[in-house]
Amino acid sequence: MAEFSGKKALVIGGSRGIGAAIVKRLAKEGASVRFTWAGSRTKAEDLARQTGAEAIQADATDRSEMLSVTRNAGPTDIFVFNAGICIAGDPLTLNPDDVDRMIDINIRAAYHCTVEAARSMPDGGRIILIGSTNANRVPFKGLAAYSMTKSALQSMVRGLARDFGDRHITVNVIQPGPTDTDMNPANGPQADLMHSVMAIKEHGSADDVAAYVSFLASNAARGITGAMQTIDGGFSA
Ligand code: NDP
Repeated sequence: MAEFSGKKALVIGGSRGIGAAIVKRLAKEGASVRFTWAGSRTKAEDLARQTGAEAIQADATDRSEMLSVTRNAGPTDIFVFNAGICIAGDPLTLNPDDVDRMIDINIRAAYHCTVEAARSMPDGGRIILIGSTNANRVPFKGLAAYSMTKSALQSMVRGLARDFGDRHITVNVIQPGPTDTDMNPANGPQADLMHSVMAIKEHGSADDVAAYVSFLASNAARGITGAMQTIDGGFSA
């Protein structure tokens, strides 16, 4: 029997990149998957067709929309918050509205959706947020605001792990390093710079992050909670 047969999963931000790999992996392992998309309608529809998952449009900057999507999904065994944006640049010239939008998606939506999912989550459920290795290490200019949003997830999971531990719900953050997606292409202009601080000097793949999600969602990981799971090719070593 597939590991997640009979389990319901909700992936916030599943249309592309790491989120799409997570949707594919959980569906392949037997979960009944719902995922949200914001701008990528065609990609979301294709992914839904390929995997049998249900695609729902929801913008993470709209709190009431996100809460109702999470609530309407009903009791969810595996909840993954992956949606995120990275706005980098000189803090003296970055548009403050862009920074606030990043905070809205990367922190506010992550917190509110996670708490909403936990309300009806069955005992033994799994909450997994996608953070970043930049929560541990910021070796380059221009990443203060983005890294700050990902550091916030560290204390979020530490605290929520305590709040939901009596129900055997685990809460963890996976912190990828450079991973080949639209956000950070392996052949992008910053790739060599990123590789220069890594032990394994190449981008990771979205499938590797999805495999980590699958492990954390499995029964074998029932004792792992309130923890940072870093998968970054030694970026933060
Ligand atoms: P992509 O840019 O490839 O995909 C981003 C995903 O987030 C898409 O599914 C997108 O949906 C969704 N999203 C963006 N804005 C919104 C919004 N307003 N509301 C709802 N969903 C939204 O990024 P990655 O796959 O690379 O990144 C996924 C996560 O991993 C992010 O949290 C990112 O910070 C993190 N990460 C990525 C790294 C990398 O090197 N790639 C490294 C470390 C962390 P849509 O297209 O439908 O709008």
